[in-house]
Amino acid sequence: MSKAIVSSLYDSDVFRMACRQFDKAADAINLPESLRDRTKYPRRCLAVSLPVRRRDGSVTVFEGYRVQHNLSTGPSKGGIRFHQDVTLGEVAALAMWMSWKTSLVGLPYGGAKGGVIVDPNQLTESELEHLSRRYMQEMVNFVGPQVDVPAPDVGTNERIMAWMMDTYSNHVGHVASAVVTGKPIALGGSEGRREATGAGVAYLARKYLEKMKLPVSKATVAVQGFGNVGSETALALRNYGAKVIAISDYTGGVYNPKGINLEKALAYLRSQRVLLDFDGGEPVTNEQLLELKCTVLAPCALERVITDQNAKRLRCRLIAEGANGPTTNGADRVLEQRDDIELIPDVLCNSGGVIVSYFEWLQNLSNYYWTRDEVLKKLHAMLDRASDAVEVQQRKFKFSRRLAALTLGIQRVADAKQSRGLFP
Ligand code: NAD
Repeated sequence: MSKAIVSSLYDSDVFRMACRQFDKAADAINLPESLRDRTKYPRRCLAVSLPVRRRDGSVTVFEGYRVQHNLSTGPSKGGIRFHQDVTLGEVAALAMWMSWKTSLVGLPYGGAKGGVIVDPNQLTESELEHLSRRYMQEMVNFVGPQVDVPAPDVGTNERIMAWMMDTYSNHVGHVASAVVTGKPIALGGSEGRREATGAGVAYLARKYLEKMKLPVSKATVAVQGFGNVGSETALALRNYGAKVIAISDYTGGVYNPKGINLEKALAYLRSQRVLLDFDGGEPVTNEQLLELKCTVLAPCALERVITDQNAKRLRCRLIAEGANGPTTNGADRVLEQRDDIELIPDVLCNSGGVIVSYFEWLQNLSNYYWTRDEVLKKLHAMLDRASDAVEVQQRKFKFSRRLAALTLGIQRVADAKQSRGLFP
């Protein structure tokens, strides 16, 4: 008899979505009951209060989390999100997806995620630094190069990783570059890490377009979320010959059927911090962007934006999930019934980020640094291996591509847990 005694700690739409995905995959591979709950639920979490002195002298206390979902296969790995809508349940769902992702691509890692409830755009540089350092200070005994290795996610970047690495290093008394990835090159960051996630999304999108006999040079692309992942996806697909016709950020988007000048958009973002009023095309909302006629739709912002409602109205040929969890389970069902749209699931599609984070960690541990060409070559080889394995699984069991990717990831984690046994 195996039944989890689970509290409502993580309960939220997005955590339930990740749990249902797990249940479906576990059923599909007949995962033994005795392995299910311990593979599914997070191993542990830490919630922290983070007081920060504000520019006017007052003190604001922010709430932060770190969820370590799986530590059975190596240190856990996953980004830290700074966003006003972060919840513990969201962080737990993202940690779960990290476990399946690192397992699917064959990395010696488990899965984790962190988050702080804060709109980083409302903080000064100095407040952001204090918050980042305070978060790492609270995490010092919970993370580490052999325990849990954070990285950037929404609202965080290499500058924040540098502050966190510095805080941890000061605490342990020596340079500990391998405690976080996604650092600046000067602190042991890897060549190619900044663009890795988007470069991987674009590489896989081109690969699937080829399978679909759609030349990338004739493809049009709409990207929701022109941040780290979205902008690098857009640039890489444009460099492959595609035309990027729409981009957006949290303030809305812009549509130009002739192609958006991405360098201009990036320069505008650097000076204005948002795309609002960028004059490179007509304004569109984030909802309209998803429904534009295009070859590739790349959701690269937040979760649950493709729903059972708008999935019926999508007019793309390929969805490349740069974001984690952009497609609800209801939308998946609609898309499976439509046979005119292919989908590259998040755990495969955006895995380029964690793959190059793994390369960065290896370089830090060995103090031997690779060239950009070496990084990209190894990245492409790992993406090819993972996507080929997903195709084999899909054909063998007649699964959707998401189910194929999830079953591969989940099976390996469950196998590791079974081999290690229960302690004591
Ligand atoms: P980012 O902060 O660099 O960019 C996020 C973008 O999304 C910004 O343009 C922001 O304005 C936009 N955005 C925020 N809220 C939005 C909303 N409600 N509607 C539309 N756009 C909105 O973050 P990122 O690192 O590019 O991460 C984006 C996604 O990719 C997330 O789902 C993240 O988990 C996933 N991801 C990131 C990495 C990585 O290496 N950074 C790796 C794998 C997956």
